[in-house]
Parts: sequence; C-alpha cells; structure tokens
Amino acid sequence: MFATHIWQNIPKSINIGLMTLSEVRSRYLAFFAARGHNIIPSASLVPENDPTTLFTSSGMQPLVPYLLGQPHPEGKRLTNSQKSFRADDIDEVGDNRHTTFFEMLGNWSLGDYFKKEQLPWIFEFLTDPQTGVGLDPMNLYVTVFAGDSEMEIPADDESVKIWTELFHSKDIEAKYVPLGSEENGSAAGMQGGRIFSYDVKKNWWSRAGVPSKMPAGEPGGPDSEVFYEFKAIPHDPKFGAQCHPNCDCGRFLEIGNSVFMEYKKREDGEFEKLAQQNVDFGGGLERMVAASIDSPQYMDVFHIDVFQKMADVLTPDPVIMETEEGVRKMRVILDHMRAAIFLIGDGVLPANKGQGYVLRRLLRRTALFSLSIKPKDGWIDAMVWAVAKLYKEQYENIFADADKIAKTINEEFGKFMAAVADGMQEFEKRRKAGTITGKDAFDLYQSYGFPWELTQEIATEKGLKVDKEEFEREFTKHRDLSRTAAAGTFKGGLADTSEKTIRLHTTHHLLLRALQTVLGPTVKQRGSNITSERLRLDYLHDAKLTDEQKAAVEKIVNEKIVEDLPVIRSEMALEEAEKLGAEHEFGQKYPARVSVYSIGPKSATLENPQFNKAFSIEFCGGPHVSHTGEIGHFTIAKEEAVAAGIRRIRGVIE
Ligand SMILES: [Zn+2]
Ligand SMILES: [Zn+2]
Repeated sequence: MFATHIWQNIPKSINIGLMTLSEVRSRYLAFFAARGHNIIPSASLVPENDPTTLFTSSGMQPLVPYLLGQPHPEGKRLTNSQKSFRADDIDEVGDNRHTTFFEMLGNWSLGDYFKKEQLPWIFEFLTDPQTGVGLDPMNLYVTVFAGDSEMEIPADDESVKIWTELFHSKDIEAKYVPLGSEENGSAAGMQGGRIFSYDVKKNWWSRAGVPSKMPAGEPGGPDSEVFYEFKAIPHDPKFGAQCHPNCDCGRFLEIGNSVFMEYKKREDGEFEKLAQQNVDFGGGLERMVAASIDSPQYMDVFHIDVFQKMADVLTPDPVIMETEEGVRKMRVILDHMRAAIFLIGDGVLPANKGQGYVLRRLLRRTALFSLSIKPKDGWIDAMVWAVAKLYKEQYENIFADADKIAKTINEEFGKFMAAVADGMQEFEKRRKAGTITGKDAFDLYQSYGFPWELTQEIATEKGLKVDKEEFEREFTKHRDLSRTAAAGTFKGGLADTSEKTIRLHTTHHLLLRALQTVLGPTVKQRGSNITSERLRLDYLHDAKLTDEQKAAVEKIVNEKIVEDLPVIRSEMALEEAEKLGAEHEFGQKYPARVSVYSIGPKSATLENPQFNKAFSIEFCGGPHVSHTGEIGHFTIAKEEAVAAGIRRIRGVIE
C-alpha cells in the first residue's frame, strides 16, 4: 500500500496519460463547439447585481435567467469554463479532492437537445483519448434519479437505458442497481452495479432543493452524475459499512453532473412537463485532470500540473512533508493561494466583511500554515507569477495584474505577521503553569487576530494545553457579526431583483458616466456591487473627489433622473458595441454577441436607440428601470480609496 500522507511531486519522468488543465479545458470547449455550441466567457467570481450571494459558485449561476426562459444572445447551445469559488468548503480543504476555487466546465441546452444527445456526448468526451480526456470506461460509474412516489415523479428510466447502451458499446456489462437512499447505499454496497439510482436528496435539482420544498412555478428535474473510481484507494468504514458511488471516503470522485430540467411545479403541487426542456451540465475541470493522471501513487487533485508547478516554488521542509499534517497544510496553501490570486484578480481586496473578509481568511490561514511548512523567502511573488503564467491564455487579467496581486498578498501577510508578534507577547503574559485557558485563546483571537490553530500550535510547541471547548463556547457567545452576516449570504440563489436594486443598478450606469464627465474619460469601472440598500462602484482614478467634484457628480446624476430618460436594451456584435464606445468593466472578457443598455436621449426608442445621442452606453445584462424618472433622488454616501489608483463610491437613493 502506498503512503497517502507523504507529499511528493510527480517525477518529470512519469507521463501516464498526463494531461494539463489547459489541455482538458480547450479540448472540452472544442468538443462542444464542434457540436454546435457557442463558447461564452467566464463571468467574474463576484456576481454583479446579485446581493444574495457573495461569489459565483457554479457555471449555472450566471445562466439562471436563461434557464428560466429569457433568450440568450449567444443562442440555444452554450459552453464555457466558469471560474467558481465556494467559501463554505474552506474548512474541508486538506483532503485529496476539495478546493475552494475551481473551474466548472459547462454545456447548456436552452430548450434544444436533451438526454439522448447529452449523455452520449459526455461519455464520449470523458472516454475518447483523441478528442477528450481518455478515461478508462471501466473506472466510470453513473447515478440516475430513482423517482419519488410521494410527489408522483417517475424514475429516470430513459437515462438508465441510454447509459446501459453506452457501456455496452465498450463491452462493459452495466448492471442497474436501484439504491434509493444514501443510507441504503452504505448498507447494501455496489452489488456489482455500474448504474445506480438515488432519491431526491442525491439526484434531483432545483434552486429550492427537493421537490417538496419547491414553490409553485419553479422548474427542476432529475440529474445524472458520473463518478471516477480510484481503484487503489480502499474504502474507509468510517464513512459507512459498504462503499458506493456517493460514499465520502475518497474512492469515488464525482466528475460531472447533467441536470435535466424537465418539470415545473404547479399551483396544486403536482408536477408537469416544462414547455422548454433544458440541459445544464457542470463538470469539475481539476477533477477530470486528476482522474486522467490516476496511478496508484497520485490519486489527488493536488497532483494536477497547476498545483505541481505552484508546489515547485515552495521547497518546504521535507521532514514536515512526511507527516499527514504537513500534507494537509501544503494542500491548504496551494488551494488558498490560487483562490486568493483569482479573487484579487476579479477586484476583491482584503476587508472585514463580505467578499473581502473571505479573502482575508484565506490569506491569514495561508500565512499561518506557511509558518509551519517553512517555504523559502520570496515564495509569494514566485507563486503568483507561476499561476499567472499557467493561466495566461485563459485569464489574461491575472497575468496583467500579477505584480499588484503579489503586492496585496504580501501586505496582508505583513499585517498578519505583525499581529502575530504582538500576540506572542500577550501569549507569554497569559501562560500559566501548564495551560492557556479557552478564554485566553479567545481573547488572543479577538484582540490580536490569533486564529485558534495558531494558539494551539504555539501552545503545543511549548508543551502547554488549551481548552478547546471553552474557546468554542466563548467564540459562539461573541460570534463576530460580520461573519454571521457573510454566512447568511452564502446560501445562493437567483439575483435579488427587488425594485430598489434595479433602480440602483440604473443609477450605477448614470454615476459612471457622470464621473467621466467630471473627472475625464480615463475613469474606468473596476468593480461593482449592488444591494437593495446601496450601490458601490470602484473605479480607476488617482485622487480623492473634492467637495465640488462630488457635488457636480451628484448634480449630473439627479438631472438625468429628472429628465426621465428612456433606458433601452439592444443586442449586437461585440465589435459593434466596442465601436459605439460602450463601457465595460476593465479586464473582463465578453462573448461575440452582447447585450448593451443605453440611457437617453429623450426620443430614443427600441427601434431607434440613437446611440450617438445617448448619455450612457454600457455592456450589461440588466435588469434596469424603463425610465430614469423611476429612480428617486441620488446622493453619494461615501467616497474612499480601496487601493493604489482605485477609488470607491457608495451611493444611495431615496
Ligand atoms: Zn467508500
Ligand atoms: Zn449594468
């Protein structure tokens, strides 16, 4: 048996089906482009105009309006690789497969093809060595929906039939085993099966969750997942008596999920077939690459090329790398650094709440763990540049901003280290004979930003004990408000399109144009966020707004509101929009056909938008008010610097 807890980079001599992240990504996009799909760019990690969620966490999230029926400017067949971030997985990072940042490969049918196209395509992509990943089909297992008798939704027999034929085409016996629940799965085990069915908890998708929770009018449907089996990883009975595809022991890795949105819940609670049936596929890019490397020693998402190249710059203490704890810390550093680089690349900066708070947590945890694995000096800059080069083709903004990103990370590490130095003095003061109380640990956390792990680590080094339960009791008592607020917004879901949010969104367009009018055309948007309370606009500019400039900006926005200008949505080719000088966010990529919103002139209509006389034209997905008169009165609530050359305005309407 191989040792799971020794960190080793893959020797250069090994090249077993070794594919890089970029290769798998470009093969996937080419594969679906060849099947009539338009490639759309990745949306930002920070969702625009969506106050209900902090981060883009799946490829589907930015496409929800289109899955619900709005026509997409790029047509009915779409594909992309979407940058995704899941903050709720932070504490799970450290095993062989969890990461906070990942890319989700997606393909969508918006009322076009369905199961009999989707499943064979995915199977071909995963198994074909020329155009796809070339995985051995003997290592693939699939799951389908078992049906729900209470809600009278039938089992997904069609998918069972399609999968059976696909495996037969590779001379693989594909026994169908209805497992029902996850509990039954761990009791009954594999039973020689290849295709398994599970209940609503595992194989049903809707935004609201299981069918009984869905509101009337909500679409949803069965899904079908593909798992890759790492045969050399033994089942761990800690996770259940028997192993099965949905077991969490690490043997089965979920690599893709096809959602078939085919039902709608009616007012009477019954389900009926949707008029427009959609497919939404999401596949884990990193996981597919890891599966392609599968060899008994390297069954680990952290062995893909990107993480290997990042690890190369660390040269950690080899003794520590032979411990389970050392390997866990290494994985955390690799994951958190890559995530931080991409978040900063999309405009997030360390802060005490919201997205910035999550970034701060990632960086402080990285700083903490780097203390114990002791990498060589200068590793932060080296790692940022390694990532920037690896992703240069797909995400140019990371490469262009690499120096700035490294600077932000170094500054945050510096702050953390200074806090650690202060905290150490306090630690020494508080240590008593053989112990640090839980209350002491909490005070260190509260006043010096000492995470629990740090206190525990220093205590262990000095042969002291810390009362973890007492620390946790204190922690729960004083739970940081911003953290609670942040956690509350992790739930996800459709953009809040409350009326006020929409009004603020249109105001946001007016504000950007007003800033350019007052400060000059060099003002460019660098980030935005809108909630139902306020708008926030980050823009490139060197100096603070003077009181006169602030008043002038407010005046222009309010004049445009009073003029009651029409707001018009047009679709056009990207080049055409660029020729019009439509505003777009600095560093973002756009698809070949785009949606553009223009404001004014007074006589503009849908048929004749009169762009040459418009006050504002922006690349934008909406939604907006139909006339600026609906907005109300605008005021700048705050203007401040967020980073060198970047200013931030918060504005409100009443
Ligand atoms: Zn298992
Ligand atoms: Zn907009």
